[in-house]
Amino acid sequence: MTGLNRLSNSSASTYLECSWRWKLTRLDGLSEGERSYFSLGRSVHFACEHLGVGLMKGQLPSLESAMGALNERWVRGGFRTQEEEYKAYDEAVAMVKRLHGQLEAAPPAIAAVEVELFGGVDGLSVPLHGVIDRVDRLPDGRVGILDYKTSKQLGPSDAEKSDQLTVYQALYEASHPGEKVGLLSLHSLRTGRVYDVPPRTPERVRAVIDTYQSVVNGIAAGEFAPSTGNWCSRCTFRYDGNCPAYPVEPGFVALI
Ligand code: SF4
Repeated sequence: MTGLNRLSNSSASTYLECSWRWKLTRLDGLSEGERSYFSLGRSVHFACEHLGVGLMKGQLPSLESAMGALNERWVRGGFRTQEEEYKAYDEAVAMVKRLHGQLEAAPPAIAAVEVELFGGVDGLSVPLHGVIDRVDRLPDGRVGILDYKTSKQLGPSDAEKSDQLTVYQALYEASHPGEKVGLLSLHSLRTGRVYDVPPRTPERVRAVIDTYQSVVNGIAAGEFAPSTGNWCSRCTFRYDGNCPAYPVEPGFVALI
């Protein structure tokens, strides 16, 4: 029997995608190695945080200072070549410039950035953990929860379908009694588009929490099995002998 002391959206997503990969990384302690897209995302998020903190204090930091934050906290791991890193850095600069321009043109009423939450929600037997990129104060007194995205593919349906936004709403409201979430948003840093959706209904929240509870139950019961799909193309364990779905003998036939 495997006990969990907390559950995050990324942990639940990994389990739901492939519970075998969850086991390898979270139970067996195998490393997936550094990834260039994670390094880019973390680096840009540092600059976003820098801009948000400045706005919270009443003054948008200069673009130069945002670039300074990006350079100071640039994460180098995961890039296979210097050329790949240079390309990612150029993309990061463009994203920070775009965000700076947007915040300058229409400064939001930022209430908090990098909000780390940890606590219980109804219907889940372990605490939820999450870090919200930005919480805005809306004109009607409710809050808006916003997540910055550096991924290439992002559209309106991603905000509609995002379980991450749903659990952030549940976690925020559970840990801030009396406060209500009035808006959920994904902000594409590559295009500058912000995809806003209304808060989830209690039924929708309940459905996601039920799914997460099934993850907790599956882990407790030791239910781990490889599940193949397009996500395998990004998986470190595909060819290293740790995944039963991809035997390493010469001439093996991939299942996808
Ligand atoms: S290669 Fe695919 S099936 Fe195997 S562990 Fe990775 S994600 Fe799971």
